Amino acid sequence: MKGIPMNTSTLAELDVEPGELPATMPAWVIRQEREGLPLDAFQLEEIEVPEPGPFEVVVRVMGAGVNFNNVWAALGQPVSVFGYGDHPEYGHHIGGSDASGIVWKVGTGVTKLKPGDEVMMNTAQYSPEDVHIHGNMGLSRTLQAWGYETTWGSFAQFTKVQAQQALPRPQNLSWAESASYGLTYFTAHRMLMDRCDLQVGDSVLVWGAAGGLGVFAIQLCAAAGANAVGVVSSEEKGELIKQLGAVDYIDRREFGEMIRTDDNLEASADTTRAKASRAFARRIREILGEAPDIVFEHIGRATLPTSVLTVKPMGKVVICGATTGFRLDFDVRHLWMRQKQIVGSHGAHAYECTSANRLIANGKVRPVLWKTMDFAGVPEAHQMLLDNKHLGKIAILVGAEDDEQGRNEPGPGAIRVGNS
Ligand code: NAP
Repeated sequence: MKGIPMNTSTLAELDVEPGELPATMPAWVIRQEREGLPLDAFQLEEIEVPEPGPFEVVVRVMGAGVNFNNVWAALGQPVSVFGYGDHPEYGHHIGGSDASGIVWKVGTGVTKLKPGDEVMMNTAQYSPEDVHIHGNMGLSRTLQAWGYETTWGSFAQFTKVQAQQALPRPQNLSWAESASYGLTYFTAHRMLMDRCDLQVGDSVLVWGAAGGLGVFAIQLCAAAGANAVGVVSSEEKGELIKQLGAVDYIDRREFGEMIRTDDNLEASADTTRAKASRAFARRIREILGEAPDIVFEHIGRATLPTSVLTVKPMGKVVICGATTGFRLDFDVRHLWMRQKQIVGSHGAHAYECTSANRLIANGKVRPVLWKTMDFAGVPEAHQMLLDNKHLGKIAILVGAEDDEQGRNEPGPGAIRVGNS
């Protein structure tokens, strides 16, 4: 580990009471000059604790959640975060777009939160003057992902958030569990419920079904009475998603030739790639009994041509990310001839998150936790995401001393997979 020496037990001990902030805190920091692989880009530094501004709160972080967005932040790809949000003002990036914690200090104008409240975060920040956010969030030009487009994320002893971001923490989950799921679950919820109007009996194809978004897409489909088939790259992941309610799974390695790469640009009907995509689409129809009404996309360049081909006529490919590349190409005839749609989706707003959290509180959707790591594990956790070594989600203990701390009510808790 580089930077200041760290004793993680000091994170669990604080000599200030709620309402009062220490001068400095340990934080995992990315700086522009060391953008690169997560293991090198994240370094531990002692940073001044921010004061809450109007309608903001500073929260003592008990647990933090790991997301792919801070792999992008570490890499400085496809863009450097340092050109966005409040980064030019502070010059550092403290990542982390999921957290559970205790409200420690409130700014002026905050009336619904007080020091001592237990909360978890919704990632969406925006200007309070932005009228669109009160009507159609999609029109907002001020929407930003906290802990990605802005600094003061959750990989630190304290985080600064807008008061509207703080949701009541489900008390049947531990600090680690309640920190683990927000960003990907809320995003998956908006993609399916708001952007695709998921209906009972719909058929859905979910890419990356055992990953951060996928485990929630599969559970939402099951909870809504829709039939989901998931795409994964191992039997272990396949068995996990069947446990989460998928009708079945496909191991994408069987259809490796469908993947769009630099070497198979040509997409005419008789190419190897097109044949493999058609075979994949046939297999999906065999499993679901029909072509999918919805394809849940976030893989991007490698899979979009297959997604557009596979979705049902008039169906929707809903996309929120592009892990394999954001310059997409596909045979547009499949789109117009069959009147299909590609629908963009991004994050979720506070009201959607609040209503999505009801399913977590009653155990109909559960966090899927692969590993809980100490604060020291932040760089390694992101490296594992980049290397696609994980299933579901990874949580980080920040103020919490163990994986179980914070569970105040009975409930099923998270589904534990692998070796957490
Ligand atoms: P994740 O946990 O890493 O899961 C992604 C899954 O993608 C992996 O489990 C892997 O599954 C699959 N995958 C990786 N490479 C692939 C390839 N070449 N072909 C097919 N499948 C591949 O990540 P996540 O949290 O689900 O996020 C996924 C993407 O969405 C990221 O790019 C992230 O930045 C973005 N995202 C956007 C938003 C938003 O609001 N816009 C929110 C959350 C996430 P298998 O190997 O098992 O197939």
